[in-house]
Amino acid sequence: MTQVGIPRGLFYFYQYPLWKTFFRDLGAEVVTSSSTGRQTIDVGIVHTVDECCLPIKVYFGHIHELIQLRPDYIMAPRLVSIEYRSYICPKFMGIPDMIRASLPDCPPLIDITIDCSRDTRQLWKDIYRVGALFNADRRKVKSAYEHGLQALKSLCVLTRQGYTQHEAIELWENYCLEQAELNSGDLTVGVLGHGYSLYDPAVSLQLIERLRGLGCKAVLLESCPRDAVEQAAAQIPKKMFWTLGRKMLGSALVMDQSADIDGIVYLACFGCGPDSMVGDIVGRKVRHKPFMLVTIDEHSGEGGLVTRLEAFCDMLRRKKVQKLESDLSAYGIHAHCR
Ligand code: SF4
Repeated sequence: MTQVGIPRGLFYFYQYPLWKTFFRDLGAEVVTSSSTGRQTIDVGIVHTVDECCLPIKVYFGHIHELIQLRPDYIMAPRLVSIEYRSYICPKFMGIPDMIRASLPDCPPLIDITIDCSRDTRQLWKDIYRVGALFNADRRKVKSAYEHGLQALKSLCVLTRQGYTQHEAIELWENYCLEQAELNSGDLTVGVLGHGYSLYDPAVSLQLIERLRGLGCKAVLLESCPRDAVEQAAAQIPKKMFWTLGRKMLGSALVMDQSADIDGIVYLACFGCGPDSMVGDIVGRKVRHKPFMLVTIDEHSGEGGLVTRLEAFCDMLRRKKVQKLESDLSAYGIHAHCR
């Protein structure tokens, strides 16, 4: 049976059910790399340039692991745009070329281009081209892709309930999760970040799990009402053209107005261009809730993160219970209050 490898990084957190279903329906066996570990990060660092952000380094660690498994193909799409007139970080566009340059012994890549800002005919042409690799006729390819889109919808249903994409994928694959842990806690904290860093427990240093352990209910971008997020993001004078950046900004503004949210945490990656801009805008625009920006890289240790999260939660509790603290920064008046 033809084997297709899917690395557990980047688009995996957003599209895994789509491509797993698609390839399975075409008669292929899908193999994935194992969950991210320290070794994944270390190997990824060796095969990327220093300037890459942590998620790209982690992705290369996963590709390297898959190469050892020798699948017939590795799925490495060239993501340009996943919705009309809105774009994904340019690093996604160069992924297949970067893999070929850094890992020459890699099996053939399925480097389908996904650009929803262009004519969908090109996307279908690419999908049929991939289907031909598995000797599938056009009808079978179309039905496999549509089945994959349905699988993706079931993932969205789970993430809307408050599961992280990582947890939703595990549920989708029939693993068991304790449902109670989602809703417990005396604090409610909005948590933002790119899915492939925030929802990968090893990359985020288990930020969401730690918040839950500190008695917080984590509210994620995917569970915010979509229309409200888009309306809020449209308030800034210039449209944010990065899809994920726009969603994070809109969600932050929705959370800022929500009476249920006690504070907001934003996870940024060192070396990420979009994060350096979006994180700063969110920090300036959030006016009614305590806000904390956490920046991580491959050298970050959990000790520093735990200390910051504990201090943040302590401050939220003091503010909530004793009403002793205002929203003003310890540095003085925020730029937006001047
Ligand atoms: S958006 Fe940032 S974290 Fe994501 S791939 Fe681009 S540079 Fe890396």
